[in-house]
Amino acid sequence: LKVLRSEIVKVGFYPDPRCTQIKKAIAKYLGVKTENLCIGNGSDELIDLICKAFLSPRERVLIPVPTFALYELCAQIYGGSPVYCALPRFQWDERLLLRKSRNAKVVFLGRPNNPTGNMVDIATVKRLSKTARLLVVDEAYGEFAETSIATVAAESRNIVVLKTFSKAFGLAGLRIGYAVGPPTLIRVLEELRTPFNVNRLAQKAAVAALKDLKYLRKIVRAIKTQREWLSSKLQKLDLEVIPSRANFIMVGLERWGIDARTLTDVLVERKILVRDLSGFRGAGDKYVRITVGTPAQNKKLIKALKEVRLSYGGN
Ligand code: PMP
Repeated sequence: LKVLRSEIVKVGFYPDPRCTQIKKAIAKYLGVKTENLCIGNGSDELIDLICKAFLSPRERVLIPVPTFALYELCAQIYGGSPVYCALPRFQWDERLLLRKSRNAKVVFLGRPNNPTGNMVDIATVKRLSKTARLLVVDEAYGEFAETSIATVAAESRNIVVLKTFSKAFGLAGLRIGYAVGPPTLIRVLEELRTPFNVNRLAQKAAVAALKDLKYLRKIVRAIKTQREWLSSKLQKLDLEVIPSRANFIMVGLERWGIDARTLTDVLVERKILVRDLSGFRGAGDKYVRITVGTPAQNKKLIKALKEVRLSYGGN
């Protein structure tokens, strides 16, 4: 906030169109070069730019589902044909992915995936990059999993990793994300983006955030502890828990005989928001996504779920 206050007096001036400072800071953070980086107005913009740059009408885009809806939306905007691949029991399946990726121009993989929270193996990513033309690995939640394939992407021929300051760094309102990949692909995105796509405040705040990695680690550690606590409590309540590496947990309600919409409505009455996943392609109507909160919020949720279970007669 201190940095933002000092920058706000300069909003009458355009931002740095080359994003020099923030590129240097990210290059150091990840161990890549600045020419491996394209900065965007959130990683949303980069998903859009990738489709705009590399997709021609009717080319196939492989989208394992359930996942983040923007992959499908952007693929369609540029005339691509989304091919959906349902993850069996929401788990990654290398053989299935390899088979499905053969005719695809672009493959989107969330790592960790939203909303399942689980991770495709790095070995699978490497093998997929041999069959797919372009592999986009979305690491929006990567900080929570404390692993990244950014350096692999930088050295690759056809892998682009997407990362963001919106999640673990908590800067969603400022809009700044980035792509990491081989300079040949990054140059295309750099040419296509508008010159002042990343505002002054976002650039400055992101540089400051990368200077305080101790704070990031503290947040990540706290989320991990709470995620494990919450997962074990949810399992004890006889809910299906998909093991997660992100800051949320996908939870199945089948054994409770209640659907996601009903549970979401009941929790809203108690001022608790969870995500009904019925709107996510491939998730069905019996799953919700629960974001890991503070210890007090998590306890409140578990208490509420115990009461709901009693009144809905879960077995
Ligand atoms: N990827 C995934 C998987 C997401 O869930 C989100 C945000 N919901 C984004 C990318 C976009 O993040 P942003 O544009 O804020 O960087």
